Parts: sequence; C-alpha cells; structure tokens
Amino acid sequence: MQVYRLAVLSDNYIFVLHDTQKNIAAAIDPAEAEPVLRQLEATGAELVALFNTHHHHDHVGGNRRLMERFPNLRIYGGAEDFGRIPGQNVFLREGDRVSFASSVGEVFFVPGHTRAHIAYYFHPNAPDEPGDLFCGDTLFAGGCGRLFEGSPSQMVSSLGKLRSLPDNTRVWCAHEYTLKNLQFALTVDGNNPDLQARYAQVKESRRRDEATIPSILGIEKRTNPFLRWDNPDLQAAVKSQSAVQTFARLRGMKDNF
Ligand code: ZN
Ligand code: FE
Repeated sequence: MQVYRLAVLSDNYIFVLHDTQKNIAAAIDPAEAEPVLRQLEATGAELVALFNTHHHHDHVGGNRRLMERFPNLRIYGGAEDFGRIPGQNVFLREGDRVSFASSVGEVFFVPGHTRAHIAYYFHPNAPDEPGDLFCGDTLFAGGCGRLFEGSPSQMVSSLGKLRSLPDNTRVWCAHEYTLKNLQFALTVDGNNPDLQARYAQVKESRRRDEATIPSILGIEKRTNPFLRWDNPDLQAAVKSQSAVQTFARLRGMKDNF
C-alpha cells in the first residue's frame, strides 16, 4: 500500500492510499475534492473509500463531490458522528475492522477533540514493516488536538490507546503543526535531549518547506509532552502529580501559547 500525502488549505494533509495491484484508492479526511481527483488522474486509480476521522469541515469538505463522482463509495466515520459527516454510510466503533485492498485497519474510539473522533490503525502487511496510524486531530506530531467536545480525562484515555501501538508506527496526522508544537514542548521539557534534537531537525525541514508528516510513534513517545503525562520531569514542570491534571495543565498552557 502506497500512501500519498496531499497538502491542502492552509495546513491540512489529505492522505490517499493506493493499491497498485488492484489500482484502487481510498482517501483519509478529504478536506477538498480537487486535489484527490488530480491524484486519481495521475495514477488512474478508482476511488473506493473515504475514511473520515471526525466531522470538522477541514476533514470532510470534499466528501460530497467525491461521492458524486464515485456513487458506490464507502464512506466511513465514527458511529457517534451520525448525521455530521456528509454521505457517511458506514458507522464504526472501537475495535471494528475496516479493509482496504489487502490491508486491515483497526478502529480506535478516541474522543476528546470531538466527542465522536475515531482513528484508523492499518496493521503492517509483513512483520518487519511499520503499521500506519491515521489519527486526524487527536495526536499531532509534537502535540495533540484542542479539546472542543471532550475532557482531559477522555483525551488521556484516547491518547493512551494510540501510545500503546508499536514504536515504529508511522503517524499520519492531519495538520502541519509540528514546528509550533515543538516550540511549545521546549517551554515545558527543554532539558529533554531527544526533544532538542527533534526541534533542530524539524526547524531545518520547515526551512526547506518539507513536510514533517508522517512522524514515528517512538519519537512521539519520547518528545511529545501530550503523550508524557506520567513523566516525572513534566509533572514537576507543571506542578502536578496526577496524569490527568498534568495533561490538563499542558493543554491549557498550549491553548494560550
Ligand atoms: Zn478537527
Ligand atoms: Fe482539523
């Protein structure tokens, strides 16, 4: 399975999965239809599925047009998003499985950014390959989504599910926010050498206008403060001893950063 990354709007990414054997494609969070249609033209692939993570317009804005072009599309989203995702015809819950070509994706219910948000984890097709996590606006490279419809404790449990995936997992989040996220991370975890090294790398990538997505989950676990609510240094930095309170304080600080 080949993954194409399309940069759209001001800082969104749409991901197009392409199976070269069957020449079929699926789009993750199509913010717009045009860039997806252009990508399909380039490969000649038939679009068979849309995988939506949540209902926000910058994740579903292209659904309708793509549906008109491909009337048999399967349009996946969270069961709790009923009525909020245009054209949705498959309603998913925690533990459900989806398939695309020969790949199997596992569904995680990850409320917090919205009350219905889901993430898709596509298992590796061979033991030495990484899996692919499509996590929308839940986990970002170096950060996490704002809490619009959920609580800190919900988000800790949601991010905890994603954190339990293998270190080599590729993290395909929906926005290019990495540099700003790491700038914030340095204010609370500045002595972390892994974070310092990552910041230098990301700064250089962005200077060259290169994407920082996908990131690697193992690096997120070591450098993303929003996956480190139980780390003693971070707890001390925000003067908290509980996981949820640590997370809540970090999120509150980031909201005002
Ligand atoms: Zn969103
Ligand atoms: Fe978004």
